[in-house]
Amino acid sequence: MENHSSKSDMREGVEQKELEARLQAVLDHVGSACQKVGRSPDEVTLVAISKKHPAQCIEMFAKAGQRAFGESYVQEALEKQEVLEHLTPGVQWHFVGGLQSNKAKLVAGKFSLIHSVDSIKLAQKISDKALAFKQKQPILLQVNIAGEEQKSGAETSNALSIAKTMLTLEGVELRGLMILPPYCENAEDARPYFKKLRELKEALEEDLRISLPHLSMGMSHDYVQAVEEGATLIRVGTALFGPRPY
Ligand SMILES: *Cc1c(COP(=O)(O)O)cnc(C)c1O
Repeated sequence: MENHSSKSDMREGVEQKELEARLQAVLDHVGSACQKVGRSPDEVTLVAISKKHPAQCIEMFAKAGQRAFGESYVQEALEKQEVLEHLTPGVQWHFVGGLQSNKAKLVAGKFSLIHSVDSIKLAQKISDKALAFKQKQPILLQVNIAGEEQKSGAETSNALSIAKTMLTLEGVELRGLMILPPYCENAEDARPYFKKLRELKEALEEDLRISLPHLSMGMSHDYVQAVEEGATLIRVGTALFGPRPY
């Protein structure tokens, strides 16, 4: 029999369309935010945060044209990379989750960019491992701009000295800053944190005489504000994949 598609095939067809519409909506919002502040949308990379979602969903987004995917849990990320090996080199993997230094050796050399490096110790371990692979691992320095207790991220007052040390490590390449601000019911309330991160980046560039191309900031509920404040990498999960099945 021809054209005998099963129910699940049909459901998949609908889902693919739905995912494409969500992707397009996010890109449209990024486009209008850029237009509003006179930036080019080419300056902003959408990193689709796929943590807790199955590899199959990543594959569907890849089919829709999405290229950068971000994961938060080491084991889960490495498993998905393996399952989705056929997608590379078209796909770029980012690591955005909290990272203990004993996991550094597992992530070094496996991601285009590690967003969540918040200490010299962690950077050192990543650097050592990357050097063993004869690689230079691109990283971001995660800063706890809001000074929240018990939250990952380097203290703002230490950012300069940490960044300075990072520059001396041969196995890492410091590419910019990352922030995970406090959750704000009203996305406008996150704007001051984004602005502070941009100002910190500019200060580091001047003090260290380097160029830091990236600001990783903005999630599903506040990426528009982040783009308006200069984000070059936005980390969007829920707005693309829907709620995470915890
Ligand atoms: C989960 C996560 C995101 C995505 O959050 P959404 O609100 O689902 O868009 C972004 N950044 C980090 C560091 C995350 O852990």
